[in-house]
Amino acid sequence: MSYNLVDTSGEHSASEEIIGLSEQQRPLTVRFLGRTDSPLRVFIMAGQHGDERYGRKAVNRLVKVFSQPGKFESRFPHIQLAVLENANPDGAAKRTRNNAIDIDLNRDHLLLDSKENRAIHGFVGSWKPHVIVDVHNFPSRRKHLLQKDRVIYYDVFVDVPTNPAVQLSIIKDQISDIVQQVKSELSKHGFSCERYTIVQTSGKARHSTPDIVDARNFLALRYSALAILLEGRSPTREDGSGGRKHIVKAQYRAVLSVLRQVQSYRKQLVKSDRPAARIPIRSKYVLSGHPLEMIFRNPKTNDLDSVILAEYTPDLLVTKYVDLPKAYAVPFSKTRTIEILSRHGFSFTRSDAVEPVEYYVPRMLKKPKIRTGERSLKDYAIFPVGQKGGSVLVLMLEPRSKYGLYRYPDLKLEIGLEAGYPILRIRHNMLL
Ligand SMILES: [Zn+2]
Repeated sequence: MSYNLVDTSGEHSASEEIIGLSEQQRPLTVRFLGRTDSPLRVFIMAGQHGDERYGRKAVNRLVKVFSQPGKFESRFPHIQLAVLENANPDGAAKRTRNNAIDIDLNRDHLLLDSKENRAIHGFVGSWKPHVIVDVHNFPSRRKHLLQKDRVIYYDVFVDVPTNPAVQLSIIKDQISDIVQQVKSELSKHGFSCERYTIVQTSGKARHSTPDIVDARNFLALRYSALAILLEGRSPTREDGSGGRKHIVKAQYRAVLSVLRQVQSYRKQLVKSDRPAARIPIRSKYVLSGHPLEMIFRNPKTNDLDSVILAEYTPDLLVTKYVDLPKAYAVPFSKTRTIEILSRHGFSFTRSDAVEPVEYYVPRMLKKPKIRTGERSLKDYAIFPVGQKGGSVLVLMLEPRSKYGLYRYPDLKLEIGLEAGYPILRIRHNMLL
């Protein structure tokens, strides 16, 4: 893809680029701030959900405040910033969550069926941000909470990648520290912030899902970027105009705070990581030894209540790993699977040779079993796992991966009782 580079200032500091077009041909415009020789690249994107305009407003405020020449550089000398204010311009125009062809962009990072996400991934793949900030809004009123006179009180929720296969150069404790610092900085400014928490109807509480269909987990897996989710509370009518301003300001402050924190961790963030030898493909939630204390607002009295949630599952226990193979072989007949892998920028090789492979044999009502044998590979596209970001292929292609492509029936990757699973695993291959 070719980009339009429009220098709007004559300086190196403010320029913009159209990274692609939406389904209805609206431009996806990225603005750049900061010195191009700064080591840490941060990409902020807002508005994947078209109806979440307050997150877009918070990011627009950042762009406006720092559009003055030299202002961003003096505050964030170590950061190059790219900002996509409106990731779903068609949805924004119609005030709908989804894009013009009814795709929820933040559930489309695995398949990349939307033009918008293909443009975003193309940009991330070429610009290579170390940090990605994904800006959203969440509804404070949930039916099952309202029945208990509870609405979510926090101004901002923050979260980080949760899929256990995400491998970053920055360690977990440092990521937790970033979250803690953002929380305490916001509270110093009179805003409330907590880690993103879902309270289910059953009363169970957990953080974001480990699934890889959203930007936060998929981009972290594919591009080894620390993806940070920033969800601002959607204002309701009772918030009034003062309340709306408060929420936009809170989310704007949260973005600034994230920038400050990642700038201080820049040395860890710019290091490159080595892929793990074993990739976790299944996990389950485990109960914490400690309950979670959350604050809710009573919509009738406006009082704040502290609620102790005993069934709190902040952590995942990995239940299955796969040793990193050399490659996967996908039959050329599985055209949609090959197309999806190509959308992600994965390349494949061909071979006419007969090679040792691992294949899956079905077992009635049981987990598929792996056998080894020799197969001709002439009808297969061979995707090496050693290519950049290739370990995500394990999550996408393993038949027992909780996040695998086989979940989509139109890809026809089901484990048939006669044919077995169509994709082969290659451990030893002279060609690779
Ligand atoms: Zn959203």
